[in-house]
Amino acid sequence: MFTDFLMELNSRAALIRNDGDYLKDDFLHCGVCNEPKQAVKIIPFANNKKLIVNLQCRCEREKEEKYRLELAEQERQRRIQYLIRHGLTYPKYRECKFSADDQRNPDITKLCCNYVRHFQEMQDINNGILFYGDSSKGKTFYACCIANALIQREVPVLVSTLSNLVQNRVKAMKGEAYEISLNEFKCIVLDDLGTENITQTAFNIIDEIYLSKKPLIITSNLGPSQLKFSDMERKRIYERILEMCGTKILVKNNKSRLQSGIEKGKTADNILKS
Ligand SMILES: [Zn+2]
Repeated sequence: MFTDFLMELNSRAALIRNDGDYLKDDFLHCGVCNEPKQAVKIIPFANNKKLIVNLQCRCEREKEEKYRLELAEQERQRRIQYLIRHGLTYPKYRECKFSADDQRNPDITKLCCNYVRHFQEMQDINNGILFYGDSSKGKTFYACCIANALIQREVPVLVSTLSNLVQNRVKAMKGEAYEISLNEFKCIVLDDLGTENITQTAFNIIDEIYLSKKPLIITSNLGPSQLKFSDMERKRIYERILEMCGTKILVKNNKSRLQSGIEKGKTADNILKS
């Protein structure tokens, strides 16, 4: 029996021996961290037979953990690349990141960063943002900074235009394209709103976003007062959009400012300006 024990010790020790490892009290120890690589295990259902089992020393545990983290990070990067390909429909949207921000509007940058940080709360109260004003690039830049940062947190975001979504639906109905499913996304960004034709399909898309309570982020040359059209078709679509975009931010070419009020009440105001 004791011979069996020693034989098992020797055979198992040989399997995990590295340069520098040494025997101490008949057990193999790691030459780096000095932890034992073996232990005695009593098997109750086999007449309390003693088995020598291999242990992972600290170095091996750390090596395995590092490998596990590397695999998880590779998987995370694969998921992020998928979200970028499917959510950011134009390459120009992918370049708009907080790291490329020139800090010309630190208040807006801060609010956008807070929006990302507190996205769960924004979802809970269904609060989106309207970026408006005459700036040619600023509005899309900030909206896409939020989209890119959310995607880095593995939140599926779609950035598109209402016109493109309408075209996609029309083509999909003819069997000429796969329909973009809004269900796949937790946040929708519609760029350059206000120039599109208002059709029933356009209304259906906005209605779908409205009913699903997904946060909606809009960029538009038109401000809140200009989006209040008198014709019924535009009125009913923009009223919903204005309701969903509780935070309204004026972006100008040189200098921008936050609109004084955030309409979703004190909660959103406190979260985003803190
Ligand atoms: Zn070790």
